[in-house]
Amino acid sequence: MATVGNFRYTTSPLIIILGATAVGKTKLSVYLSKRFNGEIVNADSMQIYDGLDIATAKPTLEERDNVPHHLFSYINPLDRSHTVIDYRNDALPVIDSILSRSHLPFIVGGTNYYIESLLFHLNPPDPVEPVQNEQLPSLAEDLSDENLSKLTSVQLHELLSKIDKPTSVRKHPNEERKIRRAIEFYRDSGGIPLSEALKKQHAESGFSYRGSFRFHRCCLLWLTCQKDELERRINERVKSMLDRGLIRELEQFHEEYNRTCAEADESFDYTRGVFQAIGFKEFHDYLLLSESERKSEHGKKVFANGIERLKVSTRQYSKYQEKWLRMRLLQRVEEHSPDVYELDTTDLTCWEENVEQRAEAIIEAFLKNETIPFPALPKTPIEEPVYEQNTCTTCDRVFHLKSQWLLHLKSKQHKRVVRSTERKTFRRKLDNAIPSLLTTLDTLQARKISENEKESDSSEKDEESES
Ligand SMILES: [Zn+2]
Repeated sequence: MATVGNFRYTTSPLIIILGATAVGKTKLSVYLSKRFNGEIVNADSMQIYDGLDIATAKPTLEERDNVPHHLFSYINPLDRSHTVIDYRNDALPVIDSILSRSHLPFIVGGTNYYIESLLFHLNPPDPVEPVQNEQLPSLAEDLSDENLSKLTSVQLHELLSKIDKPTSVRKHPNEERKIRRAIEFYRDSGGIPLSEALKKQHAESGFSYRGSFRFHRCCLLWLTCQKDELERRINERVKSMLDRGLIRELEQFHEEYNRTCAEADESFDYTRGVFQAIGFKEFHDYLLLSESERKSEHGKKVFANGIERLKVSTRQYSKYQEKWLRMRLLQRVEEHSPDVYELDTTDLTCWEENVEQRAEAIIEAFLKNETIPFPALPKTPIEEPVYEQNTCTTCDRVFHLKSQWLLHLKSKQHKRVVRSTERKTFRRKLDNAIPSLLTTLDTLQARKISENEKESDSSEKDEESES
């Protein structure tokens, strides 16, 4: 297996091609691979699974055009335990072997955390040798996947704060996946808190708050597309998927899955593995209908709804990806941060000129260590975020970033809630005070009457004595 600090990684070039669904990643990567003696490594977390070729939009044999494609369709779709760590451990040796053949690796896909796991040493942290720990057997048992899956995100966060306080402070209680990963790290390492492992690796790599870049010569091509045109292409893509038999494929898979689950006496879990594939979850409601229900008006409506949701998911994913790319590669900049080149794919009539030829020129210069003839996206470093757990008891919200907490305190929303809470409190105080206020008034009044009476009594007596 390729090791950390692999010499080839620090000297050999690597190309990453990123972009939303339907922007043309496959087409460009095949074109460039032919031109530069490349091999393609999949970085799409759904395309690693066998089957569901249409739903996961895998490149067809024809599209692959004899270019070697790695890490496609190699995981059983019913295997729900495959993690990003497994992916990283599978992908590094593949990249290593491509480099050993003096070919150029093209990492192609849209799954940010897959790309991240390859780019950085620490995301997720490289595996550590489990320490010999007498508690280990019970640790593995107590923190088994089964036990962890019974806990809510908030409970997991509490658990993490007990075993690894520094990491828990950096996570919002909603960040279930990240929290779980930190707990699993603790379990699998035999009780080493993630924060300690990171601190050690930080010290070794000489970087302050994040892992160093694994590949020192990396170039990233980012395919973009204007919103309207991307929407049009997604619609077209969905239509072509349907024409190619998307529903039949999903149905068959669904049936097989149900059968396997029934045989294994397992419950359904649509939140893991390939079931997260865009396409599957959107049409799941439809797949649950009986054959006759599907043909009904209701069935048709459910189906149309699935298509709409598919489009929305794809759009959301593309936004999420852009946000990640800007934050990870353009704002948190460190030594060996790869340059990012945007290739606008909006105008398909200029595909050769705007995309292919430009990408070709960039890679050619990059490989020769020459000045690249197009500007990279500007890097705009931001300060390291300060983590601090704060709870706004008024709004019942938790914050893990100090900046967000301070923003919240100044926000209109918070102030509105504070004002309305104050009004309510005042009301309640007033309501509570009224009875005692009335009593006081009564007492005062009674006292006044009795004083008046005394006064008139004494004046009468005075009059008597005077006379
Ligand atoms: Zn608040």
